Amino acid sequence: MLKVNEHYLKLQASYLFSDIAKRVASFQARNPEKDVIKLGIGDVTNPLPPACMNAFRAAVEEMATTAGFRGYGPEQGYDFLREAIARHDFQARGAAIEADEIFVSDGAKCDTGNIQELFAVEARVAIPDPVYPVYLDTNVMAGRTGEYRDGRYEGIVYLDSTSDNTYVPELPTDPVDLIYLCFPNNPTGSTITREQLKLWVDFARDSKALILFDAAYESFIRDPSLPHSIYEIEGAREVAIEFRSFSKSAGFTGTRCAYTVVPKECRAFDSRGNRQAIHPLWNRRHCTKFNGVSYPVQRAAEAVYSPEGAAQCRALVDGYLANARIIGTAMSELGYSFVGGDNAPYIWIQGNRDSWEFFDLLLDKAGVVCTPGAGFGRCGQGYIRLSAFNSEANVVKAMARIKEALG
Ligand SMILES: *Cc1c(COP(=O)(O)O)cnc(C)c1O
Repeated sequence: MLKVNEHYLKLQASYLFSDIAKRVASFQARNPEKDVIKLGIGDVTNPLPPACMNAFRAAVEEMATTAGFRGYGPEQGYDFLREAIARHDFQARGAAIEADEIFVSDGAKCDTGNIQELFAVEARVAIPDPVYPVYLDTNVMAGRTGEYRDGRYEGIVYLDSTSDNTYVPELPTDPVDLIYLCFPNNPTGSTITREQLKLWVDFARDSKALILFDAAYESFIRDPSLPHSIYEIEGAREVAIEFRSFSKSAGFTGTRCAYTVVPKECRAFDSRGNRQAIHPLWNRRHCTKFNGVSYPVQRAAEAVYSPEGAAQCRALVDGYLANARIIGTAMSELGYSFVGGDNAPYIWIQGNRDSWEFFDLLLDKAGVVCTPGAGFGRCGQGYIRLSAFNSEANVVKAMARIKEALG
């Protein structure tokens, strides 16, 4: 008799986006003439930068020639891309990362979900609340939690991100081994300072723990004092793995390309307490279970680092940040407090009422879709997330309607 992995049965069905879709469909049925504006999504809306598209197309054409054809590439990614990443994203910022520490993949979602396979089932895991659900659910699947009770899984150390700590969690008082951090944050849009990140790095070093740092929104950072990479912090090479993605920085959500950085010094321990390097373990996992990102996609990603590509990506992100400012200004004028939007595409708004009540209010009165904060964790109750991923015209229209409805 084949049994299932019963840890999967502990997972809570995520009704968040299906609930949203249901409420939007019902509103649309009642108001067929009204155009609904979606500021709820965590997906980009602008087309691929021309430099990426040209490189993409040229690589596809190369593949259709005898001389240019390529079969399986290196699982870790082509050197041309790994070298460009190491040079532009790290060495240029004073972070000593080498090309052979970069693992190119088809997404930061997969990588942040898969990385936990390398660690013991007994590992004690610290996860922010509110959170991008991948970190939590993949640890549930692996059996690192107990049952779900009162909105939380037993055995997880939740790191509350609230207005009291300016949405940057404090160091845990319970012992932990594996720590998930995401800055600039999804869903709150909050950022972490160098000093705050240094506290986490020192904590991980002292407690023989490891930080999994999700920097998927790094390209939205405009404040020059903020760190772009955890490796800008002294001592991080031993205690941090960083995840990056071309999804939000270059519009690759449908094209698929990301990478994970595992420095050679990065370590965990075996049951006798001996240090074990993580780099060879991740390399082994990647080569066993993954067969590389397609050549044209890697050429398209490489084009992000060309002078034209870099300028086009910067303009792309600047456009979303301009939308975020429009949203923030309107919500301030209405008297709401919020975080995010200045170095992130998300605006996390304190609604002073139940998340779903606020959601219904914005939908019914303004025809605007947000994401209820409660869907991201217990600490999200009372908040909504507005996303800057839409056209400027739609954002302007949405905020005018919200001001009319709530003003
Ligand atoms: C969008 C996003 C990613 C990127 O995921 P991909 O699989 O690379 O598209 C990673 N982490 C967070 C928190 C995100 O919001």
